[in-house]
Amino acid sequence: MSDRAAKSDMQSALSELSADLQDQDDNYVVCPYDKVHRILPSRLALHLIRCARNNSSIKLVRCPFNTTHMLKPDELQEHVASCEFRKVYARFKHADMLPPTEPRAPATDVVDSSENWDEEPPVPTYDPQAYCVRNPVIRYMHGGSASQRRDFRNSERIRLNKFK
Ligand SMILES: [Zn+2]
Ligand SMILES: [Zn+2]
Repeated sequence: MSDRAAKSDMQSALSELSADLQDQDDNYVVCPYDKVHRILPSRLALHLIRCARNNSSIKLVRCPFNTTHMLKPDELQEHVASCEFRKVYARFKHADMLPPTEPRAPATDVVDSSENWDEEPPVPTYDPQAYCVRNPVIRYMHGGSASQRRDFRNSERIRLNKFK
């Protein structure tokens, strides 16, 4: 490798590096309260709250399209006219076709009332007593007086005889 080739390699590497740094720098946002502050967009909202507290003498107004856009009152009108979030906001405003974003009640609290019981096909309810009367099943009487139980046993004997 010649000296000249090595030099141009280094230069291209340097220019790449500076381009990278440039890109990185672009990711930072200049604090509207103090131009020395450079903040990552993800931290901007939190930083603005703190910086507003520390710079209570500076009165800034919020862009209606993005809460992290803090502007001097006389700059607001110009900013709002050119704010890139204005387009996003307009899209949301007219996104009537999107499903509603209201939080739904937890599924466990929802009682599905769409079911109409009247429309269910009629299903005969199973009556064990009626089944026993019609079939040779020995029934026992629970409770009742001794004479009632004796009468019941007698009637059962007659009933069961019919099945023989
Ligand atoms: Zn700041
Ligand atoms: Zn804005």
